[in-house]
This record gives sequence, C-alpha cells and structure tokens, in this order.
Amino acid sequence: MIHIRSSIEVDRIHVSGQIVKETLEMLEEYIKPDAETLELDSLAEKFIRNQGAIPGFKGLYGFPATLCISIDDEVVHGIPGKRILKKGQIVSIDVGAYKDNYYGDHARSFAVGNISKAKQQLLDVTRESLYKGIEQAIPGNRIGDIGHAVQKHAEKYGYGVVRQLVGHGIGTKLHEEPQIPNFGKKGTGAKIEAGMCFAIEPMINMGTPDVYTKEDNWTVCTQDNKPAAHFEHTITITNNGPRILTN
Ligand code: MG
Repeated sequence: MIHIRSSIEVDRIHVSGQIVKETLEMLEEYIKPDAETLELDSLAEKFIRNQGAIPGFKGLYGFPATLCISIDDEVVHGIPGKRILKKGQIVSIDVGAYKDNYYGDHARSFAVGNISKAKQQLLDVTRESLYKGIEQAIPGNRIGDIGHAVQKHAEKYGYGVVRQLVGHGIGTKLHEEPQIPNFGKKGTGAKIEAGMCFAIEPMINMGTPDVYTKEDNWTVCTQDNKPAAHFEHTITITNNGPRILTN
C-alpha cells in the first residue's frame, strides 16, 4: 500500500529533509583530499543529533554508520572508516535523518579536488537524470514514467543504470512502498497521487549497469570497476506537481 500523507505528515518529512540537506551542505567544505571518511561520519552524526534528530541509517538493517560513503567504483552503501579521500575521486554521500517519527533521505556525489572531464560529466548527467525523474512525479502519471525518464537521459550518454537497487516511498519508515526503479516503461506501475512521498535516487554507472556486493556485505560496486554516481531527493507530490523536500 502506498501512503497518502496529510500536510502535517509532509511537514514532518520536510523537517527531516531539511536536516539531511543541511548535513550535506555542512559536509561539503570537509570533502577534500586527505579527509578521513570516519571523520565525515562523526561530523554528520553530531550535526543531526544537534537538530534533535537521529541518524536514519545507523542501526537500520545493521548498518553501522550515519553516512553511506561510496568512492569511485563504489555505487552505494560504503561504510565510513580509516580511508582517506584522494584528489580526483568521486565520493557519493547518502544520509538519512529521523525526527518526530518521519524520515528524510538525501544523497549527492561530490568531486574530491579536481576530477576528470569524464567523471564530471557522469556527475552532471546523474544529477540531471534525477531531475528528469522528479519532473514525471505528477498526479495521474505512473511510477514507470519516473524510471523511464531517468533511464532515457542516462543511457543517452552510454551510461549503465543500476537495476538491483531502486528508489522508494518514504515516511514513518525509511523504505516504504512503492519501489521506484531508475528504469522502466512509460505508463506502467502504480498511479501517482497527491500526498505520496518518494525518495528518487538514480545510481548511474559510467560503464556496465552490473554491480556486486563486497565482502563487508554492504558496499555495492560496479562490476567493471568504472566509477558510479548517486543523487537523491525526498519529494512529495502535490496537485501542482512535485515538491522537493530536501532542497
Ligand atoms: Mg534512499
């Protein structure tokens, strides 16, 4: 069942959405060569707790940290640790917050120092594909319209759209129905209605769409070791169209 949220509920998701938005804004100045990923994680956890929220991912399904930090060929779900960032890398940071019973979920890929033109294009196209997907999140459209728009944009550049991981409904649980694939056919899937709340999150690979999970049982990597990018917004559907809650 897909929840239709009241305006009070949407306001709460918005509050959590603003916290994760501000968390990534706060982190941005620390994302540079020699930054330790665990240090970024502690900064984020402190920041979220200072807003009276709790980290949305920590402890969920056993995930050990506040942030998912995924570098280069790591697509999502990387675990912060002793690793340090290096110039030229892409670092994807995903963060969730939970406050007053509602979640916000947000991700962005950042450049560490100067990155190659090819990597910059991957970041730009992945971000654009997120917005193409969001544009389709209007009452009367179908879930498949979102994925279709994301896929069409990403594949125009020869990129691989990850199939094994998808976006999701969001609310009192981090992951709710429906699943929102980043690929699909127009006019298929559940009908989109005002009051629904979604986390739309294209995971786009420079090469093959295929991925595998590392021995840590969390980190998802590209099969061909080429880089990946990940952008995510939490949104709600209104009668006037989509409204981004993590902006
Ligand atoms: Mg998500």
